Amino acid sequence: MNTEHSGGTVTTAGSSLVVSIVLPAHNEASGLGAAVKSILKVIHSLELTYEIIVVDDGSSDGTFEEIARLNAIDVNIKGIRLSRKFGKESALLAGLRAADGAVSITMDADLQHPPELIPQMLKKWRDGAKVVHAVKRDRQIDGWLTRSSVALFNKLLSLTSGLNMQGASDFKLLDRTVIDLLVHELPERGRFYRGLAGWAGFEQSSVPFDVVERDTGSGKWSGFALFDLALTAITSFTSAPLRVITILGAATLVFGIIVSVEALWSWFRGYAVSGFVTIIITLLLIGSFIMISLGIIGEYIAKIYAEVKDRPPYVVESTCGFDKNSGSQTSFG
Ligand code: UDP
Ligand code: MG
Repeated sequence: MNTEHSGGTVTTAGSSLVVSIVLPAHNEASGLGAAVKSILKVIHSLELTYEIIVVDDGSSDGTFEEIARLNAIDVNIKGIRLSRKFGKESALLAGLRAADGAVSITMDADLQHPPELIPQMLKKWRDGAKVVHAVKRDRQIDGWLTRSSVALFNKLLSLTSGLNMQGASDFKLLDRTVIDLLVHELPERGRFYRGLAGWAGFEQSSVPFDVVERDTGSGKWSGFALFDLALTAITSFTSAPLRVITILGAATLVFGIIVSVEALWSWFRGYAVSGFVTIIITLLLIGSFIMISLGIIGEYIAKIYAEVKDRPPYVVESTCGFDKNSGSQTSFG
């Protein structure tokens, strides 16, 4: 999307820096005001020119009306409403495309990404980093099972993709160079933002943070959406599963040869080959291997199909605040 907006580089308080904060929001009306308020508290203390772009990812709870209300108080708060729920990845892309700042900070709209980290992130950026990752220390608020599966997933993805995904989150600061790269140079539809930001290269840095409980509302990820995100992460960053199929095939072949030799040997020596149970088990195991392998190949084909269709990753229904002059330091409530 090419949103027309002007004045994003107006200077205030002697600074020409514009920070674009990008917040994807799906049904966050109840907590958005508080989130924006605490972000602004930090931004105002830094005396930066800023814009806060809230991308309403097909909310049904009046999130966009809330953005319009905030915009009436502070013109630097802008909104993009997607025509339906396209998912967080698409919402992040929409926000980054509209961002006008020298840097952009992407964070959740539920205050689980502490705005107090922004000064540290900006400092790392001033020291030369082009990407600053806020890295989750340990998500103690999640159960043991969730934490271990997330850790295992990140570990496997790090191993196979060569990127460091330990504690990765979508709370990141991106320099203009990296924003332009992600927005203009990467045409892929199936996006995994936390991977792409690291993939971009340049000087990368990180700051640790603790994930806190959500104040209002509830998590927006269904089990299926999480599974889909995991599949996107895998298919777009590693072809290791395909290689595993080949290795599994080779291992099965070796095993097959050994068992065949043993069976033939018994047959020549006149022993009746007994082993109905063995045959059933082998058949079922091989059958499952083949089906899982087909499934894995199918996932990659599905992603290729989605890319080939080349549909836009999201559709914008309306925007708010982009037509007005931004960059002024209107104070917020
Ligand atoms: N979100 C979104 N679209 C989605 C799911 C989530 O825009 O399909 C937003 C959500 O409003 C929030 C952020 O992404 O601002 C993180 O979502 P959530 O808090 O549900 O995830 P978690 O904290 O579990 O990572
Ligand atoms: Mg959250």
